[in-house]
Amino acid sequence: MKHNLDFDPDHGTAVELLPGLRRLTARNPGPFTFRGTNTYLIGTRRTVVVDPGPALENHIDTILSAIQGSVLDAILVSHTHMDHSPGARLLQRRTGAPIVGCGPHRAARALMENEVNPLDSSGDKDHKPDQLLRDGDVYDASEVSIETIATPGHTANHLCFAISGEDVLLSADHVMGWSTSIVAPPDGSMRDYMASLETLLARPEQTYYPGHGGHIDNAPAYVADLKQHRLQREQSILSEISAVDRSIPEIVATLYASVDPSLHPAASLSVFAHLEDLAERGLATARPDISLSARFKATR
Ligand SMILES: [Zn+2]
Repeated sequence: MKHNLDFDPDHGTAVELLPGLRRLTARNPGPFTFRGTNTYLIGTRRTVVVDPGPALENHIDTILSAIQGSVLDAILVSHTHMDHSPGARLLQRRTGAPIVGCGPHRAARALMENEVNPLDSSGDKDHKPDQLLRDGDVYDASEVSIETIATPGHTANHLCFAISGEDVLLSADHVMGWSTSIVAPPDGSMRDYMASLETLLARPEQTYYPGHGGHIDNAPAYVADLKQHRLQREQSILSEISAVDRSIPEIVATLYASVDPSLHPAASLSVFAHLEDLAERGLATARPDISLSARFKATR
C-alpha cells in the first residue's frame, strides 16, 4: 500500500484547489489527524463549508475571514468524529447557517457486554443536524449542487460528497491518501467499510479530496489498492487462526511485529473488526462470545 505523506497544509491559508473549491487545514495535527483536519470551502459569492473541524475558535476565525463577503449557505458535515463536526456548532453560532449532512453519532452495532470502548472519546455525541442528508440526496446550494454518497465503515453515519459538474469527490475519512482509515468498533464496521469501497469503485470521480492530507489522483485505482490491502490483511488473520485458536494480542504481536508497539491498541481494534466480519460470514468462530478478549479460530 503506497501512501502519500508529502503534504504542506499551509495552515491559516485557504488554498485554492479548483475554481470555487478551497481547502483550509485546521491546526490539530496528530497521529490520527496527520497535519490537521481539512475544511473545504465550496463556492465564491455564496459558500458551503464542509467539515469545520474540531472546536477550535481560531480555525473558525480563519474560515470566517476566508469567506468574508460571501453568504454562508450551509455547513456540511461528513461524520461525527471530534476532529470533524464540533466546529459546525461554533460556526453556526457565529453565522446562523444550517448544519446539514450526517445524522447523530451512533455505533455501528450495539456494544457488547463488559466491552471497553477505547474510541468512545472520538465520537461527537452533541451533533444534531438541521437537515439530514441520505444516500443519493442532492443538496442544492445557491451556486452548486452537492450529491450525498453514504459510505458507512469508518463510522456508521459517514458521508462522502460529490460536487455536481466537477470530477471530484470529498472523501472525508473513508478514503485518505496519507494512511488507511481506522475501521474499529464500536464506531466502525469492516463489512460496511468494504461495501463502501465498492460504492466508490462504481463512481466516475478521478480526484478525491480527503479529510486529512493531500488530494488523491487516479482515485479508483487507489480505492482498488485499499480493498486489496484489506483482503490481504484478512487472509493473514485467517492463516494465523487456521491451525490453532488465538487471542487478538497474539495475532497483533505476529502481524504487527514491525509496527511501533504504541500503535498496537489501535491495531487490535482493526484486527477485531476483521474478526467480527469473518465471524458474521461464518469463516471464524469466537470462544466464548465475540469480544476483544475472546479466542478466535477459522472454521476451515
Ligand atoms: Zn473520522
